[in-house]
Amino acid sequence: MNNDYLLLTPGPLSTSITVKEAMLKDWCTWDDDYNVEIVQAIRAELCRLATSCTDYTATLMQGSGTSCVESALGSLIPNDGKLLVINNGAYGARIVEIAQYLNIAYSELSYAETQIPEPLDVETVLLSDPLITHVAMVHCETTTGILNPVKDIAKIVKKHKKVMILDAMSSFGGVPFDMHEWHIDVLISSANKCIQGVPGFGFVIAKHALMENAKGHARSLSLDLHAQWQTMEQYQGKWRFTSPTHVVRAFAQALTELQQEGGVTARHQRYKKNQSLLVAGMQAMGFKTLLGQALHSPIITAFYSPQSPEYNFKRFYQQLKSLGFVIYPGKVSNADCFRIGNIGDVTSHDITRLLDAVATAKYW
Ligand SMILES: *Cc1c(COP(=O)(O)O)cnc(C)c1O
Repeated sequence: MNNDYLLLTPGPLSTSITVKEAMLKDWCTWDDDYNVEIVQAIRAELCRLATSCTDYTATLMQGSGTSCVESALGSLIPNDGKLLVINNGAYGARIVEIAQYLNIAYSELSYAETQIPEPLDVETVLLSDPLITHVAMVHCETTTGILNPVKDIAKIVKKHKKVMILDAMSSFGGVPFDMHEWHIDVLISSANKCIQGVPGFGFVIAKHALMENAKGHARSLSLDLHAQWQTMEQYQGKWRFTSPTHVVRAFAQALTELQQEGGVTARHQRYKKNQSLLVAGMQAMGFKTLLGQALHSPIITAFYSPQSPEYNFKRFYQQLKSLGFVIYPGKVSNADCFRIGNIGDVTSHDITRLLDAVATAKYW
């Protein structure tokens, strides 16, 4: 049975019928069929998607994307380490919050949500604070849909010999790049974003040497990334604690479908087409985007709420939902917006239907 509405939200998102069907079988967590075949194949495929360099290893971790960010930061930064967080949105701010919860020494380089971080500022901070050992930032800041200049920043981070950690939650699998070429040491993403799986676990792709050196740093038992990695390595894909078996099955199917689509490049093209169609159609109806087109990712787009006194997000949302589309509220702190995601099992035909629905809703 399919949904009666399409999720135009950046995770959970609309998944294919076949991804959902993959969850119809129960699996034994310690059986070879599950561990060796499914989990190990997923780990290898994630590394292959991330880079052609073989120096990286992937670890899967139960929980939402945030659990995985928390696991990576809490396990990879030693007690005497210091984190620089580059922040231009809610997910950058969440990294700061994690550092606070975990008692990780940090400093913050913050920007307005509509501004992209400036690589030269990062260099200035790194030069002025030699205690910094790690730098973390978000690739696509899902708050606004902005695509941050990760490549230029990571180059500077590398030059200063710091560890570069990237929250690529909403971009990995949907925006092509090579982790190694970009000098990313650690990448975090989750099952339910551009790979188009269902929610339940995330993953960390990191340099081998970093994982080896992480022993004993974890600030949490269940989120100990090194221990999880060790178990997956030693026992061929075994998870330390109950694994989200159905989610893992769905994810394996989602990876197959990514390949069938033509890989990350083809998926990126589809998302880009969705996004440009969406923006053109919305602009034709008088909507304005929060960001200029040059700053947009193909992942999600924030639109200013219409100025009409009759406009009310809740009603607009309900109307679109009744017409078959679920959109996303805004998350920008100083602008009244709503957001529409382009990721998931969504085609340009769906975007055209959405635009018709927006025109029909006519609340403004
Ligand atoms: C979705 C997302 C996360 C994680 O969110 P969860 O709700 O914990 O899954 C983190 N960072 C970014 C950029 C995201 O888009």
